[in-house]
Amino acid sequence: MNHRFGSFGGQYIPEILMGEIQKLEKAYEVYKKDPDFIREFRDLCINYTGRPSLLYEAKRMTEDLGGPKIYLKREDLNHTGAHKINNCIGQALLARRMGKTRLIAETGAGQHGVAAATIAALFGMECEVFMGETDTERQALNVYRMELLGAKVHAVTTGSRVLKDAVNAALQNWTARCSDTHYMIGSAVGPAPFPEMVRDFQSVIGEEIKKQILEKEGRLPDSVFACVGGGSNAIGTFYPFIDDKDVELVGCEAAGKGIDTLYHAATMAKGVPGVFHGMKSLFCQDDSGNISEVYSISAGLDYPGVGPEHAYLKETGRARYVPVTDEEAVAAFEYLARTEGIICAIESAHAVAGAMKAARHMDKNQIMVITVSGRGDKDVAAIARYRGKDLHE
Ligand SMILES: *Cc1c(COP(=O)(O)O)cnc(C)c1O
Repeated sequence: MNHRFGSFGGQYIPEILMGEIQKLEKAYEVYKKDPDFIREFRDLCINYTGRPSLLYEAKRMTEDLGGPKIYLKREDLNHTGAHKINNCIGQALLARRMGKTRLIAETGAGQHGVAAATIAALFGMECEVFMGETDTERQALNVYRMELLGAKVHAVTTGSRVLKDAVNAALQNWTARCSDTHYMIGSAVGPAPFPEMVRDFQSVIGEEIKKQILEKEGRLPDSVFACVGGGSNAIGTFYPFIDDKDVELVGCEAAGKGIDTLYHAATMAKGVPGVFHGMKSLFCQDDSGNISEVYSISAGLDYPGVGPEHAYLKETGRARYVPVTDEEAVAAFEYLARTEGIICAIESAHAVAGAMKAARHMDKNQIMVITVSGRGDKDVAAIARYRGKDLHE
């Protein structure tokens, strides 16, 4: 297996984890080609998640913007309300085949934690989720959701008590107890083989888009948009189009209050190469190379790094990445609700905002696809607060 995407990727892990990572790598090499494994993955995607998700023609938005024909890939319609379940199904199946009985996961806002707890419940596996203490306070509802699903949530009190600290805690726990435990990482990040494996499970998104657009339009889209946190929904959307050079691939990252302020999570615009969480990639860092605190209105995009394959796609120019501010994302969130009757996740609204900007420079004969990574019920109160409205929650 190739551990690298150009100079990015790799396996920067403590010696003590090396054996376990190699076991995982070997198992994945075997099972990704195993017809039974593939059949079981597909069966759960269809019969548990509700795939394929719709490729929805956004007619009102298309007409209103007056540019390209716009389609939305509706990952918000999946069971649990986002794309994260695709990855959890794949990794849990692999863990089960490796004889593991316990799943651990990190979570920021709680989206991946809920998806992990969901699959653990379905598979009758033990589940423990690591979450920064600050995040457990901000996302009390998701903590309770995970507990309802039978998971144990650990509030992590090290560092700034946020997502990056939760990843560190999960890696530590895995190191101490890998005999019965699989660490189900939630995005296309971490040491090899995670970035490649998560990409493969999420590629169900792009594969479906390709098939659906060929059925509807008889040709491939001109451009494809997705939001980028760690980068899993984006790489899953992009990967099946990598060799279709006429399809433009655009990732939309969180510019928070602006990339020239201290309050953003724009790794592509502002990050520099470094090593963290087991991989070489781009990271937001201070002058001495410490990982910066990052900020976005969207908890799912609030990560100081990005998956190594995105760093590579940026370097080679195969994909381009644009920053989207809180203000632009909130405006797109409201626009999609009013125009198409779809309340999307605030993460996904970054992709919608980036696409709306690009649509101005495209014409009516062109086709654009936007991946809507999740639904926005979780964000309604925060958007109200952003607009100065207190919902007394
Ligand atoms: C977690 C999350 C994201 C960001 O994660 P990626 O790995 O970059 O896809 C985006 N959208 C939603 C709805 C999420 O829950």
